[in-house]
Amino acid sequence: MASSEQIIMACCADVAGQVRGKGFPESDLPLRLQRGVGWTPTNVQITCFDVIADSPFGALGDLALIPDPTAAWVIHDPTGDPVEHVMLGDIRTLEGEPWECCTRSILKAALRRLQEVAQLTTTVAFEHEFQVSGGVAGDSGSAYSLAGARSGAAMGRRIFQLMARNGLRPDTFMKEFGADQFEVTMKPADGLAAADRAVILRELVRVAARERDQRASFTPIRDPSGVGNGVHVHVSLNDSDGQPTTHDPESATGLSALAASFAAGITTFLPGILALLAPSAISYLRLTPHRWSAAFNNLGLRDREASVRICPVTSLDPLAIARQFNLEVRACDAAASPYLQLAAIIHAGTEGIARNLPAPTVTEADLSTMDGSELAGMGITRLPTSLEVALEAFAAEGCIVEWFGQTFRDVYLSHKHGELAVLEGLSPEEMCARYLAVY
Ligand code: GLU
Ligand code: MG
Repeated sequence: MASSEQIIMACCADVAGQVRGKGFPESDLPLRLQRGVGWTPTNVQITCFDVIADSPFGALGDLALIPDPTAAWVIHDPTGDPVEHVMLGDIRTLEGEPWECCTRSILKAALRRLQEVAQLTTTVAFEHEFQVSGGVAGDSGSAYSLAGARSGAAMGRRIFQLMARNGLRPDTFMKEFGADQFEVTMKPADGLAAADRAVILRELVRVAARERDQRASFTPIRDPSGVGNGVHVHVSLNDSDGQPTTHDPESATGLSALAASFAAGITTFLPGILALLAPSAISYLRLTPHRWSAAFNNLGLRDREASVRICPVTSLDPLAIARQFNLEVRACDAAASPYLQLAAIIHAGTEGIARNLPAPTVTEADLSTMDGSELAGMGITRLPTSLEVALEAFAAEGCIVEWFGQTFRDVYLSHKHGELAVLEGLSPEEMCARYLAVY
């Protein structure tokens, strides 16, 4: 039984990959579900370092952040009192229209476009890696081990408990390869719910660690010489009857023609959307060969260094294979808003379908050993090697305006340049420390 008036936070997962919002008394919920809480356009320019980048909105304008009770989580203390109640939501104009820089509305628009262009829906799962500081599992020899899992077991149990209580279905929890590194995966859901749950999961993990006086960090890379923390986004397509349509047992790669065009869209547009998938300056320390992340815009068969990987399936039953078969986009990290990440993947894939792009060459080799002309012959390029270069590719990609609108494009570029300005003159180690403090 709650002992006092509770606060509900209405929040957005913003361009900086941060969850920001405002609280209101629980008793006002019916009203707030209609009216939302007031929001300021220039908030979109608050970078992850809390420095405000150049804003076209200045001090002007008003918006409403409308909480959505289907994208919520509650955390109770041991007495049963809710100590944290958050609802993610959409930012609307005062006229009730989706705001052009609302990340969640941008994802909804991308999913609508896929529906309109190809009559397809998505099934999506986000896979997260993170590192815990404050005394667990730092020991060498713990990678993938039971000993490593044991050191994080209490936290893992609490993460699963918080997930289950908040409608997120846990899949696996393990001690990952890196120092203090763990991974948690969850069962797939439709595109919007999956992105909501990615935001929620990151927060539940932080809470579970904090309850143990530890800190969980999803920073893309903690130290330049260590492994990265990836976000791997698994996507599959369903037809208008909800039937899985990613797999074709007759095709050499296993991909249906539609899914092959979707994959081709992602690999073709990957350089231009990378700044949305891997949006920090240090993301590019992670996206280098031999880190099992992604360094080229390739489609790989069961290759953990491919940007887009055709995943293995663990069944012999044709129906189960059809349902499990998916594409895994590995060039992502948790400095991004999951909404923007998934929106960019969906737009690129949809463009591939709209243009009827042929299947990309499927690679099964170490691309870092090949020279440029060999790669070019397969239509493959090295991904941008810094955020600056990724932003140039983003700015030069004409489709970005078509998919995201001119305002968002310009705002995003200025946001990211504002973030880069904070890092000027810092060494890679110092940059990692700055991002570690944030993510
Ligand atoms: N840590 C790797 C990354 O940065 C992924 C390792 C794996 O799970 O394959 O994406
Ligand atoms: Mg992993």
